[in-house]
Amino acid sequence: MTAAVLALQGAFAEHEQVFRSLGVDCFELRSAADLDRPFDALILPGGESTVQSKLLRELAMFDRLRAMIRSGLPVFATCAGMILLADRIEADPGDKVPETFGTFPMTVRRNAYGRQLGSFHTRAEVQGVGEVPMTFIRAPYVVSVEAAPSPTGDVPEILAVVDGRIAAVRCGNQYAFAFHPELDEDRRLQQHFLKIVAAHAARG
Ligand code: GLN
Repeated sequence: MTAAVLALQGAFAEHEQVFRSLGVDCFELRSAADLDRPFDALILPGGESTVQSKLLRELAMFDRLRAMIRSGLPVFATCAGMILLADRIEADPGDKVPETFGTFPMTVRRNAYGRQLGSFHTRAEVQGVGEVPMTFIRAPYVVSVEAAPSPTGDVPEILAVVDGRIAAVRCGNQYAFAFHPELDEDRRLQQHFLKIVAAHAARG
């Protein structure tokens, strides 16, 4: 199984380490040419969604990646990656709104916890997985998921809520987390995702 890790900016190295430790071949997406290599899953790391979005455009990777996600490519997105999937973004006045793939019917709020409560650690239940550790870093949260299906025909599901805010969601093969599973020791979220990837790959 091969995963492509978006490596333009942010915390991509940690994801690679984790997925490699689970037996997944990983390579980095740094230019449009890297998109020619075959892969079974896409990892969108945390970082700065505005910077990542701009680089995806400048490097002519944006449209091709969006088309792949639209045609069902499994995606494991954290934090800034969650923002990149959303079809609607809320931000404070003066905070930038990045261009997003818009493949996941949800509204995400950037830098949602304000400056003081920017980073925190907790544990909470993720549906279908169990209670997992969660590290939030200047995290977004999902304001709402839409009832309308995504471009892949899937309906969004809420997987975790922390302090009344949606922190993990799934829409078909797209998984998005407001927190950083790659920074904790627990691997159940990645293992759960890899089952979805295997099932998708088996269907061809
Ligand atoms: N605040 C970042 C953004 O809006 C996300 C933070 C993160 O990925 N850790 O892009």
